[in-house]
Amino acid sequence: MEKMDLTTPVEALKGVGEVKKQKLHRAGIFTVGDLILHFPRCYRSGTLSPLSSDKLGQYGVFRLTCCAAPYVFTMAGGRRVLRFPAEDEAGTKVNILYINQPYLKNKITKGDVCYYCGELQEKNGQFFLFSPERRDEAPNPDLPEPVYPTLGGISSAQIAKLIASCLVPLLPCIRETLPQWILEKHKLLGRARAIFTLHAPDCNESLARAKDRFAFEGLFDFSVKATLFSRRQELVQTPALKDVSLDPFLSKLPFSLTEAQRRVLNEIRADLVGEGLIPAMNRLIQGDVGSGKTVVAAAAAYLVAKNHKSTLLMAPTEILARQHYASFQKLFSQSEIPVLLLTGSSTKKERQAIFEKTLSGKPYILIGTHALTEEGALCSGVGLSITDEQHRFGVRHRSILNEKGGAVHSLVMSATPIPRSLAMFMYAKGKISVIDKLPPGRQVIDTFYVGEDKMQRVYAFLREKAAAGQQAYVVCPLIEDEEEKSPLQSASEEYESLKKNLSELPCALLHGKMKNEEKNAVMASFASGETKILVSTTVIEVGVDVPNATVMVIRNAERFGLSQLHQLRGRVGRGKEKSHCILISSHSGKSARERLRKLCDCHDGFELAKYDLKTRGPGEFFGTRQSGFWGPDLTDEISMPLIESVTQTAEEFLDTAKAEEILPYENRIHLH
Ligand code: ADP
Ligand code: MG
Repeated sequence: MEKMDLTTPVEALKGVGEVKKQKLHRAGIFTVGDLILHFPRCYRSGTLSPLSSDKLGQYGVFRLTCCAAPYVFTMAGGRRVLRFPAEDEAGTKVNILYINQPYLKNKITKGDVCYYCGELQEKNGQFFLFSPERRDEAPNPDLPEPVYPTLGGISSAQIAKLIASCLVPLLPCIRETLPQWILEKHKLLGRARAIFTLHAPDCNESLARAKDRFAFEGLFDFSVKATLFSRRQELVQTPALKDVSLDPFLSKLPFSLTEAQRRVLNEIRADLVGEGLIPAMNRLIQGDVGSGKTVVAAAAAYLVAKNHKSTLLMAPTEILARQHYASFQKLFSQSEIPVLLLTGSSTKKERQAIFEKTLSGKPYILIGTHALTEEGALCSGVGLSITDEQHRFGVRHRSILNEKGGAVHSLVMSATPIPRSLAMFMYAKGKISVIDKLPPGRQVIDTFYVGEDKMQRVYAFLREKAAAGQQAYVVCPLIEDEEEKSPLQSASEEYESLKKNLSELPCALLHGKMKNEEKNAVMASFASGETKILVSTTVIEVGVDVPNATVMVIRNAERFGLSQLHQLRGRVGRGKEKSHCILISSHSGKSARERLRKLCDCHDGFELAKYDLKTRGPGEFFGTRQSGFWGPDLTDEISMPLIESVTQTAEEFLDTAKAEEILPYENRIHLH
């Protein structure tokens, strides 16, 4: 190739034809510059080991002899599976399966010896390897090997090859994003060096330094934006609200507020009420699942409405927005304050009707997804923005609102209790209120932890509950990566299997890739009780409220953090019937087992979050593992001391940097 720079289109690379080009484009990779920012999902360094239970759930390298010629069969859902038994030197047996690679049948014969690299699993007392990599030679244990997220069928190995073909010539084009003094002070690798090392580490130590650099960069980027946001929030002054009695609102509730709710409401009130101009509120309400955050936020909205200002409530998903809409409609049914809903699937006509209401000059409460932030015009007359974000970042959306609507009081609700120092970081130095007690009379949700081999019993339990008129959720982890898949893990496969095993019960499937109308229809049918069992990815994690659902089954529970599992568990136990949570996992890693047992014994979200923080570190709360926020999985690199040091550095940077150095961060507040 002639001269290459970061803007060279990917199809200029050797080996990228029309088909690959399309696949890369679909993944958002158009240039070679995009390609080299496609980072490995994880690294493997394998030492040769015998087949043993100690190795379960971990990546291992096994030298195995094929014991019988492979045979091919078709699974439910049409996937073609090739299967054969193999054994190690000690004669321990393992079943090896390859999905959709029937051509391997002619390559593998009885007596073949080969190195198999993959995650050892156990089902029904037998060892399994799903789609392990086959090699003629043992890999070097000191050389971490990158594993890339596959891109629409382009394998990790193919991606590695493409990146290797352009990485070195591109290195001089990579621009440093951190100031020199920060690199020196924190002894960080330069950006080009770090990118090179993430793709081609020469040892574990240099890989660790490359990851450290990116962990720092990601946190720094976030911290600068958050600090900019909070400094701006401190500068903007907004008229104080007049205090009005909340009794007309509170006295109509079917319950009285708990002491914790009352305390938090008073803290909010103190932020809003006063004389003349005051700084805009920037407050986080933390409270366990079911602690009653919604009604507190609603009371704040009432106070704002009585001051002739409107409230926007933003939810992370459309399903949750609809739930909030339903709750707010109930809460405000006896007041004259209109409650409106606007989401991505609102029709033009509905939008028009909402616009008209918002232009009437009378205060309203508008609930929706982040689509709300795109409707700039709606921000006039808005006095309060409430964000229900569970464990997501909020700075971006809040800052957009902040700019569009001028000074707006901001309230964030989160069900993931995190330590103060971490919350200060993640929530832009706002104030924090904690609802630390649940309303009285909440039932304990009996939680069990069982292996995959108990699924038949779980099905029987579901049948029994359905016969008693109750409903259940079955949650499966989201598996984006084809190569990671093994049978029965994905929601759609679970759905097929349920339909077979519980054919008499109406089941439905819900996942993130469905259209909004489809999702709404599925949720409506579950809420009405027509659908008995809802199979879903974690789209239901946040806030769904179906009191008749009494069983929560979670497949591959080891995949989730404790806080997340606790949130999922909080979906049941909302009605009068006794509720159960069943964690399914055959993962036999020690820490995974301990974590799941902890959930069975502990029902306090705060304690569980502390446990997560202690055992998995704060990276867990940023969801880097799930979302690939910064590309590579940096969950383990993020520590509290790092967060503190980044926070300080960001302050120092903002105090000393020139305007043009800060500008990129200002602009990027909108991105991500
Ligand atoms: P979360 O904090 O998880 O968002 P919600 O606000 O959805 O919790 O409240 C959970 C349930 O508890 C709702 O059905 C709500 O009506 C009820 N609730 C809230 N506050 C109280 C209270 N003080 N006493 C009894 N029930 C309450
Ligand atoms: Mg809630």
